Amino acid sequence: MESPKEFRFQCTQCGNCCSDKNTIVNVTFHDILRIKSALDLTLDETLVVLGFYMFEKPPTSMELKKMVVPPIETENGMAFLGLFKQQSGSCYFYDEKNKKCRIYTIRPLFCRTFPYSFKILVDPQTKQRKGIEIYFTDKGHEYCEGINEKNPLIDRDKWVQLGKETIKQMEENNVLIQKWNRSVKNGEIIASARNFVLTILNLEKDSSS
Ligand code: SF4
Ligand code: SF4
Repeated sequence: MESPKEFRFQCTQCGNCCSDKNTIVNVTFHDILRIKSALDLTLDETLVVLGFYMFEKPPTSMELKKMVVPPIETENGMAFLGLFKQQSGSCYFYDEKNKKCRIYTIRPLFCRTFPYSFKILVDPQTKQRKGIEIYFTDKGHEYCEGINEKNPLIDRDKWVQLGKETIKQMEENNVLIQKWNRSVKNGEIIASARNFVLTILNLEKDSSS
């Protein structure tokens, strides 16, 4: 049973989630296509706004299994895909002077759902999905000013809806990453960050043809 405390939140626009140097702003292929299309970016320009974050040492298969978003095989090893960071550690799209997101209306799902995360609830007997649990992320507890017991209750139905959409997109994204990693392993494609992004941009062409 979730605690009602988990549902009290109001964003103060402190910008901590956009400027924390240790937060990787994860992006799905849906996010990349949306940003690319809205900003009319070329492949090279799309690569500029993305960051491929390497592991200090390759993750074990056990660690990989526990990851909500799998890393991607690149020419330099396995990497997490997120938005690029400015030298300060802020997100590439964070306007530090005005404390604003420069792509607010098309920001990634990660930004829309922060400080929450979602978990699918499964009926242990039927193994069917029976709903979504909402909870604050560790990063949210660490620095989000909007988490406060004095804040109003959130519109839970709205967040559950967002959670469902998030899980759907993340599952689709994970399928794409797993397919990519398998193709690299089988020697069918050359592992490179550029090729991976090109594969994503080609999805747009495939869907419009
Ligand atoms: S995309 Fe916008 S909302 Fe998301 S972290 Fe970057 S600046 Fe913040
Ligand atoms: S850290 Fe929390 S309160 Fe601050 S901008 Fe992000 S979501 Fe809003």
